[in-house]
Amino acid sequence: MKKVRVIGAGLAGSEAVIYLAKKGYYIELYEMRPKYQTGAHTTSYPAEFVCSNSLGSIDITSASGLLKQEATQLGSTLFPIATKNKVPSGNSLSIDRFGFCKEIESIIKSYKNIKIINEKYERIDNSIPTIIATGPLSAKELAQNIKKEFGENDFHFYDAIAPIIEKDSIDFNKAFYASRWDKGEADFINCPMTKEEYDNFYDILINAQRAPLKEFEANYFEGCMPIEVMASRGKDTLRFGPLKPVGLFDKRIKTEFKKNQFYAVVQLRQDDKMANLYNLVGFQTNLKWGEQKKLIQSIPSLEKAIITRYGVMHANTFINSPKILNEYLQTKKYENIFFAGQITGVEGYCESISTGLFAAINMDRYLKNKELIKLDNTTMLGSLIEYITFKEHKKFQPINANWGITKEIDGDKKRLKDKKYKNELRSKRALDEIEKIKNTLGE
Ligand SMILES: Cc1cc2nc3c(=O)[nH]c(=O)nc-3n(C[C@H](O)[C@H](O)[C@H](O)COP(=O)(O)OP(=O)(O)OC[C@H]3O[C@@H](n4cnc5c(N)ncnc54)[C@H](O)[C@@H]3O)c2cc1C
Repeated sequence: MKKVRVIGAGLAGSEAVIYLAKKGYYIELYEMRPKYQTGAHTTSYPAEFVCSNSLGSIDITSASGLLKQEATQLGSTLFPIATKNKVPSGNSLSIDRFGFCKEIESIIKSYKNIKIINEKYERIDNSIPTIIATGPLSAKELAQNIKKEFGENDFHFYDAIAPIIEKDSIDFNKAFYASRWDKGEADFINCPMTKEEYDNFYDILINAQRAPLKEFEANYFEGCMPIEVMASRGKDTLRFGPLKPVGLFDKRIKTEFKKNQFYAVVQLRQDDKMANLYNLVGFQTNLKWGEQKKLIQSIPSLEKAIITRYGVMHANTFINSPKILNEYLQTKKYENIFFAGQITGVEGYCESISTGLFAAINMDRYLKNKELIKLDNTTMLGSLIEYITFKEHKKFQPINANWGITKEIDGDKKRLKDKKYKNELRSKRALDEIEKIKNTLGE
């Protein structure tokens, strides 16, 4: 029996270990809990949900619903068990978290070929095929060793992330493309403000409610300071920081300006390969989500902004996947070491489970000398993996399932304006592709 290691019995690791156990490998599953806790986990169970008990929409024409369906078709164990432990919550999949993780524990324990080792895994042993799925709260010692193994600068820590919005929801009658002082390409979308508009924005920001912080989350780096903390240092701090207007000119306005055309400017930076998504530069935040929406929609040009990811703040560890991983979630350095789950830079429960499954599928194929599986960006899982392994990211940040990262769909432009119709087409396209891949897996 070939030996494999899975490190971390969280969401990704539990999915991976069960898949590999079914394939008959002898697996050493390392999990440091209950001896050492992460700061967010509170039990000794595998696949513990650390925060909300929701896995998002079950509608397969939503990004999250599609991801769940794709993984289920590819052989997920965790999603069907989650459905079995569903609690009423409308159109979304919310679970009885203890019912769920107890059942996952009994499945894992039912496999004689899984050896559970409740120890902290510290050193990567590249002589043994290994999936590392230690999550955003990976133990320090392992984090240090990953850093050593894959490059000093290739291991990130961050505390707050900025919201992302859909480009199509920006009002370009007000917003304009430009780079500061016209240097290089006009890569940024700029949302200008008058003094009155800035005053209104500032008032909303300074009075907005923040999400509560856990003690382990409370230290943030100066370089990644939440916008609300920066604003509390003075009314003009932002105008000399991320909202500075100098050198940004809307050429549609004919008047000559030497330095400032506007009082303040919010800049948006491209976030995905296809330029559907833009993040708000310098807007990392810990505000409650409702408050973020109110704040963003108070910015001229963003009144109708569709927010695909809200800013969040928590201790988080993720590797520089664009440099370290290939599209199979295999490290470029060692072909028998794979990463899965939130540590790869995907964000969220469903994303972690799905990448756990995908890494296990490819580990199995690698061990059998079969061609590894690649998913394209017509599928939600393939799009996520393409996003996190896209080599040319300027500043790689975690991402969750959303339509903006998937390939555009062809068809009647008028009909495609109907979102429901468009998502039905995208969803069908994805599931057809997954079905083809599933047939390959059976070979
Ligand atoms: C505070 C917080 C709240 C979150 N809330 C949500 C939410 O509400 N909704 C959502 O969709 N996502 C949320 N996430 C993001 C993410 O979905 C979860 O963190 C998810 O659990 C990630 O799955 P994972 O398998 O990658 O990691 P985890 O589920 O964290 O699993 C990693 C496992 O590895 C173990 N481990 C770590 N280091 C070692 C080591 N060296 N040796 C052995 N074992 C080790 C840990 O004990 C843990 O069991 C949250 C994240 C955090 C940190």
